[in-house]
Amino acid sequence: MTAHKSKFSVTILGSNSALPANGRNPTSQLLNINNHYYLIDCGEGTQMQLRKYGVKMQRIKAIFISHMHGDHYFGLVGLLNSLHLLGRKMPLEIYAPEALEAIVQLQLDASGGRLQFPIQFHVLNAPDQGSTVIYNDSELQAKVFRLKHRIPCCGFLFSEQIKERTYLPEKGASYNVKIEEIPYLKRGEDVTREDGTTLLSSDFTDDPPKVRTYAYCTDTLPLKRTVEIAQGVECLYHEATFLETEIERSKQTFHSTAKQAAQIARDAKVDQLLIGHFSARYASLDQHLEESRPIFANTELTVEGKEFEIN
Ligand SMILES: [Zn+2]
Repeated sequence: MTAHKSKFSVTILGSNSALPANGRNPTSQLLNINNHYYLIDCGEGTQMQLRKYGVKMQRIKAIFISHMHGDHYFGLVGLLNSLHLLGRKMPLEIYAPEALEAIVQLQLDASGGRLQFPIQFHVLNAPDQGSTVIYNDSELQAKVFRLKHRIPCCGFLFSEQIKERTYLPEKGASYNVKIEEIPYLKRGEDVTREDGTTLLSSDFTDDPPKVRTYAYCTDTLPLKRTVEIAQGVECLYHEATFLETEIERSKQTFHSTAKQAAQIARDAKVDQLLIGHFSARYASLDQHLEESRPIFANTELTVEGKEFEIN
């Protein structure tokens, strides 16, 4: 297995729940795979955060909205309008609950304006069990699954596309491998030359790096299903709106505590846990870590502006 050379990271744009407070913004994250950008949720002020952290927002190819609570999408129309004003022509894919399309359309229609770029709107339909593929491009595959919140809410599994095998130039040089032969070897195909000799792909290439996966689970009660779906992922984002002292409030509002997020991460045997969607009642987040780390040591807070490399 060769090391990862390609980029796979998540930048935190907003980490609070419900309302901006304690210097924290409502939920949004930017996924970067080889400089292809994807936005996950779009709380109010997301475009300000993209500006603040120097993100080239025209690079965003697709936006994934988990559910219809405002702290996860109130920033969308503002962002769309700015993309338009900045001259975007490239289509934008939006994956969201059905209700969002009419809301966006109403806001655009009321201003009499028209966007210069097409939006391709896709209604999210999570299966009762497991996950289904909703998106594929050259870099990313995204799957959707069901969470349990007051209103329908989706989780997402974001994976790199399966990569080609890694070519070993020193071995190739010793056999005079030609440039045009390399793509076949990288795809795992053997090459037979005109003189009858065969180059085995396995002699000149290494296994591709393991496909990395990021699971995004916001606004949900802790679920067995999440443990199954996020099993073995490199990085799990799980909401931790509350601490255990607020467990009753957490249940009533269909959220999770930092301890419950850690239990999910431990049971799913993930490499790293990011917690977020913090209630405005917590000025400091130290206790979230104190509650999570004894159960799952590799827990990090989703601090805004921080970029987490997934390896
Ligand atoms: Zn919610």
